Amino acid sequence: MIISETQTKLYTLATEAMKKAYNPYSHYSVGAALITTSGIIAAGCNVENVSFRLTLCAEANAIGALVGQNGKHTIQDILIVASGSGFPSPCGACRQIIAEFALPETEVHLARAQENSDGFDVRTYRISKLLPLSFTQQSMAPEKTDPKNTAELITKEITSLPTNQNKQ
Ligand SMILES: [Zn+2]
Repeated sequence: MIISETQTKLYTLATEAMKKAYNPYSHYSVGAALITTSGIIAAGCNVENVSFRLTLCAEANAIGALVGQNGKHTIQDILIVASGSGFPSPCGACRQIIAEFALPETEVHLARAQENSDGFDVRTYRISKLLPLSFTQQSMAPEKTDPKNTAELITKEITSLPTNQNKQ
């Protein structure tokens, strides 16, 4: 496996971030590091909460650090590393958060530390593959109909609903 310079750099930063993970409940450490198309780097770790659903993922925290310090930028590569023996994988919410600041070709690198060595294994996917049909700004684009037509459409939908008598 050929590991690129970018992957090595992001792996080092993500591993440093992973060591700062706040994970008193799961003891599962995650680090994420990213580089933007303009060369800005940011990293983050997971931050758990006793109210479990408030836990923040490393990927989201890395993006929060990027935007908080530099404003909006486009992610070129993001690498995620975690404790445990398997390859990490971003949760569904983080895929959507990455997609917000990514191009379809943005690469997501999933890294796994090699046992008894300083090296690592990595699997790379494009964000468009990890999150097909992502929710985008275009999803919210208004239909090109005037209010009168919209009202007609709603009326048509309501009148075409089956009545209770037709239900089986
Ligand atoms: Zn997540």
